[in-house]
Amino acid sequence: MLSNILKISQDAKAAKKLNPELIDATVGMLHHESGQIFTYQTVTDTLCSLKENEMYAYSPANGTAEYRNGIVDWVFGKNKDRIKNAFQINVIPTTGGSGAISNAVYNFNDFGQKILIPNHYWTPYENIAEEANVGVETFSMFDKDYRFNVGDFRQKAFALAERQKRLFLILNDPCNNPTGLCLSKADWVEVIAVLNDISRRDIPVILLHDLAYLDYHAQGFDGARDIFETYLELDENILAIIAFSGSKTFSLYGFRIGAQIGLTKSKDVMADFCRVGDYSVRARFSSVSRSGMSVVGQIFSRPEKKAAFQNELLTAREILKKRVDLFSAEAEKAHLQTLPYGGGFFIGVPTNNPDIFDDLVKDGVYSITMPGLVRIAISSVPLSDIERLVQILKKNV
Ligand code: PLP
Repeated sequence: MLSNILKISQDAKAAKKLNPELIDATVGMLHHESGQIFTYQTVTDTLCSLKENEMYAYSPANGTAEYRNGIVDWVFGKNKDRIKNAFQINVIPTTGGSGAISNAVYNFNDFGQKILIPNHYWTPYENIAEEANVGVETFSMFDKDYRFNVGDFRQKAFALAERQKRLFLILNDPCNNPTGLCLSKADWVEVIAVLNDISRRDIPVILLHDLAYLDYHAQGFDGARDIFETYLELDENILAIIAFSGSKTFSLYGFRIGAQIGLTKSKDVMADFCRVGDYSVRARFSSVSRSGMSVVGQIFSRPEKKAAFQNELLTAREILKKRVDLFSAEAEKAHLQTLPYGGGFFIGVPTNNPDIFDDLVKDGVYSITMPGLVRIAISSVPLSDIERLVQILKKNV
């Protein structure tokens, strides 16, 4: 199933122009109740105040100091000192989170190899893998109680690692797209124990941690960063690559700004990460958006801007919370089952209907569907549409 998310989103937009009553639940961008895209004043003000060279010049391929250092502090938050002490770290700016994922998959897999992902996933992973001549294998994301299925993860990870003598895992957490799941710290302890067990068999292990929606965790800024404490247990030879998305954190969707943050305790592994990463950036896109890097770098490095931005993030999370609370209340009333939601832009609704996409469209709802699941982008559905949306879902799932 190759990803079609952007195309379906465009179809939904066109259909909504003809029929304003239609509910467009496809878009993974945060929107106001009015339907306008949610932008951050701190981002806009910083963007408007950029000097000529901060906007028009090429950006350094390995990033400005403000960007490189700022992103590590931002992502790891309260755990930054411990992470910096324990790991070799390098930042490679990329064209959004997508660029980070694409570079990592391309760089660290041989042709024909398979990467491991959960059975519910952001479908572009498949396109990215296919372009790199790599396959995907899945494990069941949920157990029967809709908790993270550590057992199946362990079994599939071991089987794949033993078979190909390598393991490349992608986990999108917290605020998983498409399900809304947030792994607990205890889940992460288990994930890392499995990776360590495999690494101790002399099998190279790479964890690609896609945290595009980190800043929309319902537990807030610090709560979202609890999981990094578990990173400290990662074995020496494991390489963790974090894919950061400026699109989501800063609403800079069109700017194409993101990063790979490589972490490992091994100097040799880090030397490989830097060498291939640098090479790929130059070969694949040369460098990233200068204005994107300048804005993000300034917000990260200037305390008053950072504080103002963090304050605005509270508003963004509040918008999501109100919609999710209403959706959950309506779903409960209608006896509509939903997947556990921990934060982010999406709510997952299980379905047995193989024609769910078409059936929802007939009833005026555009969504992204995948086997067994409807993905509702609550980021773009106003409160006024939620009761009707739940009823239409209930009728068709
Ligand atoms: N990862 C996930 C799970 C996403 O949903 C997205 C965007 O929708 C991305 C990564 C990459 O976003 P971008 O390339 O815009 O940073």
